[in-house]
Parts: sequence; structure tokens; C-alpha cells
Amino acid sequence: MLCQLCKERVACIRCMECGIHLCSHCVKLDLYGTGCGCVGPIHMCPTCFEKSWLPSGITAESYHAF
Ligand SMILES: [Zn+2]
Ligand SMILES: [Zn+2]
Repeated sequence: MLCQLCKERVACIRCMECGIHLCSHCVKLDLYGTGCGCVGPIHMCPTCFEKSWLPSGITAESYHAF
């Protein structure tokens, strides 16, 4: 199964929102819940990441946390 975004690398993870297969280069990873001590992983395609995680006006391209 190839990454459905770049179609070049082997997919190793799936977007937790839309479920498309992503390689480690294309997937957007982040952590949430740092305030309460429990941390959960976020793994989404850039589209879903922008839509459901970033504040409006900020795109995945301009997000430099990782
Ligand atoms: Zn990819
Ligand atoms: Zn997605």
C-alpha cells in the first residue's frame, strides 16, 4: 500500500479522520492533552489536520511545530 498523498513512499499510518493511508513524511503528527497529564497522539492527513486541529487561518504548511 502506497501513501495516498505522495504515492511514492510506503504508507505506515492512516489518517484518524478520513482514513487514507499516509507515509511517515506526509502524516501530520501532534500531541494533545498536555494540560491534564494524559497525552494522546494525533495522526492526520494535512487536509484533516488543517480542518479539525489548527486555528482558522493557519495552514499545515505554516505550522512548524515538528
Ligand atoms: Zn506520502
Ligand atoms: Zn484525513
